[in-house]
Amino acid sequence: MTQAEGSHDTQIGFIGLGVMGRWMAANLIKAGFRLVVHDLNRAAVDEVTGKGGVDGGSIAGVAAADIVVTMLPDTPDVETVLFGPDGLAGAMRSGSVLIDMSSISPIATRRFAADLAERGIAMLDAPVSGGFQGAQNGTLSIMVGGAEEVLERCRPVLAAMGTTISHIGESGAGQVCKVCNQVAVAINIQAVAESLTLARKSGVDPAKVRAALLGGFARSTALDLHGQRVLDDNFAAGFRVALQRKDLKLALETGSATGAPLPATALIQELYGVLAATGRIGLDNSSLALLLEEMAGLRPGGPA
Ligand code: NAD
Repeated sequence: MTQAEGSHDTQIGFIGLGVMGRWMAANLIKAGFRLVVHDLNRAAVDEVTGKGGVDGGSIAGVAAADIVVTMLPDTPDVETVLFGPDGLAGAMRSGSVLIDMSSISPIATRRFAADLAERGIAMLDAPVSGGFQGAQNGTLSIMVGGAEEVLERCRPVLAAMGTTISHIGESGAGQVCKVCNQVAVAINIQAVAESLTLARKSGVDPAKVRAALLGGFARSTALDLHGQRVLDDNFAAGFRVALQRKDLKLALETGSATGAPLPATALIQELYGVLAATGRIGLDNSSLALLLEEMAGLRPGGPA
């Protein structure tokens, strides 16, 4: 039996069984970990307990685990689960580890880690890239901030959820890496949108342009996946505009706090703001192309 299929003594707590977390939890169970879970959404808890997880019933109900993983939407959600009434900070044992895999503020993350350290609780920030498909297949790219020896202790847990585990640096460095990722992704999506819109406005087949570009210097995952979405006129999420906006907000805040200019990111954030203001916040992040097609007169404007 390989370690991935074996059984482990380590008990894992898992809070946040949404689009990503439900698959990550399922992969931990598959890898043989004893899993105790919590989510505000009853149906999500039922789904994971149906696969062998145990319902912790509350935040405090998972706090006795050796390692607690959080996969929550945003910074305030993580802060509530850690430091709110009956939060993890007051309930986890000294010597245990919190792994926050949500995409949240690098600055707040450093504060959380310092506060937990005073209570003897180690923290890793370990946000991910790879979408729900990566979560489902256990092939996420995991970007880790925190002490290396804590990462080594937790590596088998992370390896059950991802295939690329990168130690980026001290606390917060994983979250910095994630916002860098989101900046690069967003600018790539806008590049693909502009490139394929230019082809269409020039009377040239955008499918042929995409295929040719994929063989050259402009090749990218955004051109491949989002480019195909543009050709198919398929802007159903996927990775929602709402989450992309949240991540770019974190990037812009980090840029502002560190003095890193992010002019292209700021522009794209405004465009995502237009999508949000016109009822398209639930669409895929590739819908920057849809907006550009409207601006180019290639399709009627969005909903009033
Ligand atoms: P989601 O909204 O689908 O899931 C979040 C879950 O947390 C929900 O089930 C919600 O009920 C639960 N929750 C919220 N507050 C809670 C609380 N106080 N106590 C207990 N449970 C609570 O979000 P998601 O798409 O799974 O994303 C999670 C994180 O991963 C986000 O930070 C997101 O940016 C990041 N991420 C998402 C993707 C993606 O493709 N969806 C990819 C990479 C990273």
